[in-house]
Amino acid sequence: MARESKYDILFEPIKLGPKTLKNRFWQTTHCTGFGAERPGTQAAFRATKAEGGWGAVFTEAVAVHPESDEYPFTLGRMWDEGDVINYGHMCDSLHEHDALAGIQLWYSGCHAPNMETREIPRDPSGLPSNAFPERTVFGAECDEDDIRALLNMYVLAAKRAQDAGFDILELSVADNTVPAQFLDHRYNYRDDGWGGSLKNRLRFAIQCLTEVREACGSSSAISIRYETDDILGALSLQYFEEGLTIVELLHAEGLLDAWSVKIGDYEEWAGEDAASSRFRKTNWMKPFVEDVKGIVGDVPVVNNGRFTSPDDMIGVINDRQCDIIGAARPSIADPYLPKKIEEGRNEDIRECIGCNMCVSRMQQQALLSCTQNATSGEEYRRGWHPEKFEKTKDPCSVLVVGGGPSGMECARVLGMRGYDVHLCEADKDLGGHWKRVARYPRCAEWGRVTTYREIQLGKLKNVEVHLGVGEMSADDVLSYGADKVVIATGAHWATNGMGPEIHKPIPGADASLPNVCTPEQVMDGKATGERVVVLDGEGHFTGIAMAELMADQGKSAVTMVTNMNEVNEYTLYTMEATNNKRLMYEKNITHMRNHWGHAVLPGKIQLFYLYRDSPELYEIEPGKWNRRETDHLVEIECDTVIICTTRIPNNGLFKKLKVRKGEWAENEVQAVYRIGDCHAPRQCMNAIYDGHRLAREFDGPHPQYPLPFIRERQIWGHETYPKLGDARPVVEIDL
Ligand code: SF4
Repeated sequence: MARESKYDILFEPIKLGPKTLKNRFWQTTHCTGFGAERPGTQAAFRATKAEGGWGAVFTEAVAVHPESDEYPFTLGRMWDEGDVINYGHMCDSLHEHDALAGIQLWYSGCHAPNMETREIPRDPSGLPSNAFPERTVFGAECDEDDIRALLNMYVLAAKRAQDAGFDILELSVADNTVPAQFLDHRYNYRDDGWGGSLKNRLRFAIQCLTEVREACGSSSAISIRYETDDILGALSLQYFEEGLTIVELLHAEGLLDAWSVKIGDYEEWAGEDAASSRFRKTNWMKPFVEDVKGIVGDVPVVNNGRFTSPDDMIGVINDRQCDIIGAARPSIADPYLPKKIEEGRNEDIRECIGCNMCVSRMQQQALLSCTQNATSGEEYRRGWHPEKFEKTKDPCSVLVVGGGPSGMECARVLGMRGYDVHLCEADKDLGGHWKRVARYPRCAEWGRVTTYREIQLGKLKNVEVHLGVGEMSADDVLSYGADKVVIATGAHWATNGMGPEIHKPIPGADASLPNVCTPEQVMDGKATGERVVVLDGEGHFTGIAMAELMADQGKSAVTMVTNMNEVNEYTLYTMEATNNKRLMYEKNITHMRNHWGHAVLPGKIQLFYLYRDSPELYEIEPGKWNRRETDHLVEIECDTVIICTTRIPNNGLFKKLKVRKGEWAENEVQAVYRIGDCHAPRQCMNAIYDGHRLAREFDGPHPQYPLPFIRERQIWGHETYPKLGDARPVVEIDL
């Protein structure tokens, strides 16, 4: 189907100095955990986006020198010839698809933990890092020689990047990197020509851009990643006004071929630039970035805003808010987003849901994964492509029992591979437990998990979807007539207070009683009282959703109790923790940490402090110490306790089928597998991955268990692996 002409504007080329962007799609810098350490994963991951139509594809932040080592976080590095070779694979793969390769040059000043290199980072004023307080990270104040060395680091890294094949060299003057620290009056207390007035504070960025441009600008485009505001509330109220003045001053220098602008809050880790959909909607940064285009005139401007709708995209371009659609998460969820728009297949776009699970992986020093796109990060190591599926040589019939996220994904991929698929769902709608989740406060966009798969299943002629079949028994399954069976019956919240803390039910936490509810019961309308305690053993989104729901219903008291050190602890990784705290403050939701349920009684819950019973800290005699055991309890008066303690797999059907394994052959059932939450209740991202993987490997030797993947590692003794005594790499730099 041809695209509507109104979208043609998205496919106009844009001149970027000596380079030409083939369309208006720009995958902005985003972290992955791949860096130069996993060059195959990096190249294949980014190349898939280029293949899917992204005109420019960037790296993650790439440190220009070992003084800015982010370990244990894997950012990029452009330190020596090895990095040139490794990133060269990425550039070559992008060029095969006519995409421009972009790199962000990064040096994080006083925030560089340097836990691998043990070097001392330089910064404007020799300050402790407020981004990593627990690591007592400090910068060392630069003198003139140090500033010269810093500038050299950028230039040499830029030259290496050119050697690797990068087309766009982006200087980070954002995310509290050292050029931003020079700019920021909270980091720059210098009284020489590099501090004080705005003009002086801007001098480092201008000098850096000038030198990079002189060295590389004739053949590479030079861009900037810039924040008009760092969104730090009381910490930097003046920044926004200064932010636009800086745009004016910098633009006047004529050094830039493109501006990529956003907001930021690196220090608080609140993630306002990569805000989750629970807190910020499409184009939420508009008030902060919309004036940049008016200042810089003809220089192309890139905006991010988790744009997934082509109508939103053409809206911001036609409004002259920006020229280029920047995207990180939408390009992860659907690397083929531009191509689908180009081909008039808007309904096939796999829209990012803004859950920030991708972010959470990076924040745990892990590798990027995505809820919507199970192939993300698996392009190289598992050979998966988001849009291409190997046809099966054994097109047997498959019954998938359960139409939640995992079952739907499995059925979709099996269908794409040519199997004859029957997806049977007990309920009258697809979605499983995710239907309720998408009705939680702020979680409506998460419903895209279901709608995308529902649309795709509807297009597959070899997939039959049967709704409202009720719970299937083992007899139903065995007599269904399918060659193979996949059980995807999901999980439910514990109805007895069973949880991760003590692995036992909590006396009185009985969801059949009127004063105790599970999240399902709350969403299905079970009555709740005026004073509510949410007992949260999940620590992600369910507890806070229940608490907000209760607050929105006007309850007189809402208290979250968690066993964890932090309320909504997982959201530290999704970068929602700060906004969750703001939410709790605004809605008067109180909390108690490091406590767990002892008993639920009429009118109250009794809690114990996790560190109540433990070894005494002093010896009662040399070499002997007491175990302290008390019965001290904390009580909270309440009318309702919502128990989000843990989820329990709905594995009864699978177990019954296993018990009757001897009857499979006589019913012509060759195999029974289980996927998703009925195997082990995990995050939706992992359940979807589970269904996807089984379907990809369905005709493999042991589909229930994953095939090995390619591990990217150096192998001792291999000719490319440095041996003991080998010369250390030579790095050209003037320190
Ligand atoms: Fe979007 Fe969630 Fe995927 Fe990240 S993990 S790209 S936020 S759908």
